[in-house]
Amino acid sequence: MKVRIDEDRCTGHGRCYELAPAVFHEDERGHALVDRPTPPADQEEKVRRAARNCPEQAIVLED
Ligand code: SF4
Repeated sequence: MKVRIDEDRCTGHGRCYELAPAVFHEDERGHALVDRPTPPADQEEKVRRAARNCPEQAIVLED
């Protein structure tokens, strides 16, 4: 799995770094940054959950 943020869509709701804090963190505006663009297997379900819960559909997953 690979994950990235569509910065044009992210408006900073923060669901991603609440649901998968080992993979995402926030910048000074509350927008998401990706710490681990290739998440380890034990984080994949959390990343998928974060993607489903992003109100802006800003989390892009590639398998
Ligand atoms: S949940 Fe979506 S909109 Fe909110 S910070 Fe994360 S990527 Fe951005």
